[in-house]
Amino acid sequence: FKVIALESSADDTCAAIVDNHRNIWSNVIARQNSLHEINNGIHPLHALHAHQRNMARHIILWSATRSLQVKPMVVRKALDDANLTMNDINGVAFTRGPGITGCLTVAANAAKTLAAATAKPLVGVHHMQAHALTAQLTSSSPPEFPFLCLLVSGGHTMIVLATTVWDWKILATSADRAIGSAIDRVVTLLQIPWTELGPGPGLERFCAEPVPDEEVLETPPPIIMPGQLAFSFTGIHSWVERTIHKAGGLQNTPKRAVARAFQESAFQQLTSKLILAFKWCQNHDCHVQNVIVSGGVASNLLLRKRLKDQLAPWSVALDFPDPSLCTDNAVMIGWAAMHRFMAGDHDEYSIGTLPVWSLEDLRNPPPPPAV
Ligand code: ATP
Ligand code: FE
Repeated sequence: FKVIALESSADDTCAAIVDNHRNIWSNVIARQNSLHEINNGIHPLHALHAHQRNMARHIILWSATRSLQVKPMVVRKALDDANLTMNDINGVAFTRGPGITGCLTVAANAAKTLAAATAKPLVGVHHMQAHALTAQLTSSSPPEFPFLCLLVSGGHTMIVLATTVWDWKILATSADRAIGSAIDRVVTLLQIPWTELGPGPGLERFCAEPVPDEEVLETPPPIIMPGQLAFSFTGIHSWVERTIHKAGGLQNTPKRAVARAFQESAFQQLTSKLILAFKWCQNHDCHVQNVIVSGGVASNLLLRKRLKDQLAPWSVALDFPDPSLCTDNAVMIGWAAMHRFMAGDHDEYSIGTLPVWSLEDLRNPPPPPAV
């Protein structure tokens, strides 16, 4: 059973084809980073217009040499790369939510039109469920329920307990901003150059270089709200601001030392709260043997190392999808839709998007926002 999937919930325009035997036939991602780097972040209207161009016409992207390239539209390219036509496709999937209101409509409308025109079943997918289920697509020994998920991305920082594909309990979420958003702001504050993959990989690359001993800074205290299953990232963000201020401006700030201390503190917080979530499961008679770590920030290799080291005593298997499948992609959307297609279940062609949609409401999605 082959599914073509479309994703446009934030800044990447994606199309992919996957099948029920865990084969990835194609994975096309049109990034908008060159557009958003100018604004130091995603500008919703610019993102919407770029999705409209990329999904339906052609993509224009900066290559490694920073020259312009013109490529076929993402849907066409997903079929061409797989050497398939719509006749070979059995179902169409798209990201229904959560995400940026206007952006979501681009993949939704394209998928609905494609499905209706070719009389294929259609499934709308929860973006964060898709980030989490990627591990079941890529892992050599797919994790079995129940498992814990640490989802760390541009809009979310969550620890979730999944007991079935439909039943997810949110154990921890951020009291303020998501870790990815804090990372992106610190990259802007410290004027760290983005890579072609965006601000987060820019921070990772910048922090990979060592700093002289005399410049090393003490890691800002990571234990926020001790004993509580909640994250907070505004504190360490302000610590970066204060450090720049105290140094008398960015030109006098040991930028790499500050970036490394920030990154270390943010990751220490993730590991300490994950351990807390483990204890919660044990106290609630829930025997969890797997932890899935996904979302854009999970592509960071230092975070992977820190989690592996810190969780070593807990006899638990950590599953990280391939870094390229942790950030937004349509492969995960096609895969997350697969269990519904396999059950013979699908949505109406008139289905609406859900910019706000809790992972706890997969069975009963909220009504679409009032017009
Ligand atoms: P959400 O999934 O919450 O809706 P999103 O889809 O915009 O948000 P993702 O693409 O899942 O976000 O993740 C993007 C975030 O991950 C950005 O904040 C980005 O900076 C961060 N990120 C990506 N790669 C890395 C990395 N190597 N190190 C740290 N952060 C990273
Ligand atoms: Fe995402």
